[in-house]
Amino acid sequence: MHTVGVDLGGTNIGTVVLDDDDEVIGYAKRKTPTRGDHNRVVDVIVGGVHDAIDDAGLSVKKIDAVGVGTPGVVVDGTVGDASNVPGFQVRFSLGDLVSDLVDKPVRVVNDVTAGAVAEHRSGAGRGWNQVLCVFAGTGVGGGLILDGRVFEGAHGGAGEFGHQVIRQGGAVCPCGRRGCVEAYAGRQAMTLAAERHIASGGSTVLFDVMKKKGKSRPTSGVFSDALDLGDVFVADLIDDCISALAAGIATSVNLLDLEGVVLGGGLADKLGKPFRARVEAAMQPHLFFSPPKVELVSAALGDNGGAIGAALLSREVA
Ligand SMILES: [Zn+2]
Repeated sequence: MHTVGVDLGGTNIGTVVLDDDDEVIGYAKRKTPTRGDHNRVVDVIVGGVHDAIDDAGLSVKKIDAVGVGTPGVVVDGTVGDASNVPGFQVRFSLGDLVSDLVDKPVRVVNDVTAGAVAEHRSGAGRGWNQVLCVFAGTGVGGGLILDGRVFEGAHGGAGEFGHQVIRQGGAVCPCGRRGCVEAYAGRQAMTLAAERHIASGGSTVLFDVMKKKGKSRPTSGVFSDALDLGDVFVADLIDDCISALAAGIATSVNLLDLEGVVLGGGLADKLGKPFRARVEAAMQPHLFFSPPKVELVSAALGDNGGAIGAALLSREVA
């Protein structure tokens, strides 16, 4: 069986073709449109699907199903409430539109859930049945695998790791509430904190590094470089980010008795092993029971995880 998986992000649309052995045999990447309606995005998704099939050296008729991982809330093939993709705020039937254009069965899944499924089945969480995957990037997402299966909760909203409250009345989160993990550990919130710091007369090299790297916003690589340059403000932000992730992960472990936790996302990937090790050390004092030791491991699939997970999940509709 061959399946195609799409990872729709706010910046890029990554697409993979998977074979029977879960190997990626084709790959494509296109820019996500920044304007227009959802049909424009769907056209680019479909273009990427064909690019990836070409890259794999296959014909379309060899493809059994397509999976699409998207931000936002997914219900029965429809998506809505995705703020960073044009036209994806108002709910529409993404699955039907893509299916009509590629003439294949299509499964639509949340992008973070797709990433978690990929890490569980063929990445860093392989072999565990009770796993939390945490992805720290622009925001902080999470996906839960319980008893070996994706756990979506009563209304599909489970796994919102980033919006656990770790400090009552704490910092404002991009979601509008206070004291969430993401208010301290998401790149968007960290960037806003840096802007406020500058506005109130503080100093940081963060935005100089951003300009030097030709970026329009501080990426994970910009944060990493500013940290390496010894920027005190950025070092404090990263300290708070680590404390928040550690508190959130330990709370999840205490609630669910997990075997392991996979830590990924742009920020975790860029800051690498020392970052993971610091989160692991910081979570220990919060853990209610020990032993057994819960493992915190780095995600193994990087940028391709979401697309691989979408392809794996699409097998269920093939
Ligand atoms: Zn929040």
